[in-house]
Amino acid sequence: MLIDSHAHLNFEDFNDDWQSVTEDCLKDDINYICVGAQYETSKKGIAIAEKFDSGVWASVALHPIHVEGSKFHPEKFDPIEYGRLIESSKKVVAIGETGIDFFHNDDTFTKQKEVFIQHLNLAEEHDLPVIMHGRNSKDGTKSAYKEMVKILKDQKVKGGVIHCFGGSVAEAQGFTDLGFHIGFTGIITFDKTGQLAEVIKSVDLSKILVETDSPYLAPEPNRGKRNQPQYVRYVAEKIAEIRQLSYNKIEKQTSQNTIKLFNL
Ligand SMILES: [Zn+2]
Repeated sequence: MLIDSHAHLNFEDFNDDWQSVTEDCLKDDINYICVGAQYETSKKGIAIAEKFDSGVWASVALHPIHVEGSKFHPEKFDPIEYGRLIESSKKVVAIGETGIDFFHNDDTFTKQKEVFIQHLNLAEEHDLPVIMHGRNSKDGTKSAYKEMVKILKDQKVKGGVIHCFGGSVAEAQGFTDLGFHIGFTGIITFDKTGQLAEVIKSVDLSKILVETDSPYLAPEPNRGKRNQPQYVRYVAEKIAEIRQLSYNKIEKQTSQNTIKLFNL
């Protein structure tokens, strides 16, 4: 059994077939967390999770690229509305994705930071872990990861994951030092820089999660296709190869890590 800790079957790419895709996943012993990025996708993620007795969970949040002032479908974050979503279902296991994005939106930093802190407060209030998104600026001069670690140091969050990690060994360590997990996507199957392999070698196995970020970022050998939770297998295989451990070991360990972190 593998758990894809980050998938978006609540996004429109899956409008027509999220149900059959999920049924296939469950048959293949693949579970997943359906991650929200706006109010509507958060709500839809809960509806998807509720449709299945087990194996699918949801998280709710407003993604940093959608905060007020953004050019990408901006939305006002209302902690009360999101609090109601959390209370509406036992399938909600995390707050996310939330964080800082300098890549798409570096002019909304102040707002992103404010909304990120509101999400961390919501996580504390509901005793839930966080699923975080961070992306550095295109020219590499602004590190979202460093800004997030600075913020997290002042907060009382019970734990969480920095998803789709794309930074350096030092940036990863900033999170693991605070007890957070690191999530890896299919990018690790085609990262030619070698940086992510170094990060994977540096992180304690108990802190590694696997994910797809479906429908995006399909791994080799399915690059360019619509990604789906079953492809999380290629991410686990790549980690096994880099760590020189068996696939079974990575399968077991990452599943245990995910179950423990999200109390599944
Ligand atoms: Zn995502």
